[in-house]
Amino acid sequence: LVSRKKKPEDTVIEINGEKFGDGNQHFIFGPCAVESYEQVAEVAAAIKKQGMKLIRGGAFKPRTSPYDFQGLGFEGLKILKRVSDEYGLAVVSEIVSPADIEKAIDYIDVIQIGARNMQNFELLKAAGDVDKPVLLKRGMSATISDFINAAEYIISRGNGNIILCERGIRTYEKATRNTLDITAVPILKQETHLPVMVDVTHSTGRRDLLLPAAKAALAIGADGVMAEVHPDPAVALSDSAQQMDIPTFESFVTELLKSKK
Ligand code: PEP
Ligand code: MN
Repeated sequence: LVSRKKKPEDTVIEINGEKFGDGNQHFIFGPCAVESYEQVAEVAAAIKKQGMKLIRGGAFKPRTSPYDFQGLGFEGLKILKRVSDEYGLAVVSEIVSPADIEKAIDYIDVIQIGARNMQNFELLKAAGDVDKPVLLKRGMSATISDFINAAEYIISRGNGNIILCERGIRTYEKATRNTLDITAVPILKQETHLPVMVDVTHSTGRRDLLLPAAKAALAIGADGVMAEVHPDPAVALSDSAQQMDIPTFESFVTELLKSKK
């Protein structure tokens, strides 16, 4: 059902006035994790100032180590909802458990399914059973075919509002956190009718590579870019090395829009 052969025209998903898949480029910024109301509100103000309509933030954090910050859970979703109401931004947030989907959709506008859960089939089915857009990230060891099949799990249950997100894959290369598979973008655009985003934060893991990676993503035809922004990355509870502070975010947006056609 996600195949372009079945549906030649692009799927357009409207979220808070932004039409993902309409041929324009859309942006999703926000902190890695929700840490406090003040932290999220500060980032929301900066996003709003740029005229952008979405914010991301993790409340359920799937961390590699069980000793790392696991997120604020539903308290985090409540913070996001409050910020969303106050700043008029739609919220993208990761859900990790099928049992949480029904309750979580009262707080968020887009269900993110993270790389580590791309083949959590029960989670995919649960996301497919609700009427909420899904941002599906590519698994770090998933082939493009695996990725497309994961989207198929969601659409086959009835929910076709799926945005695909390339976020880098595991390779032998250690200079970056993952290897950004940039050609996945045109391949996914050819093979499916879904919007395709690129997450430059988790693919590179390097602040100095965010802007060139984002330019490459737009140049190769991505429908948008996701990146992480924190008021004070040095004290962030997760992904401290690659989140942008607010002045860096502002110049990132200026530079990226300059390069955009
Ligand atoms: C995230 O976007 O918060 C995240 C954890 O990314 P990924 O699932 O791509 O690692
Ligand atoms: Mn992160």
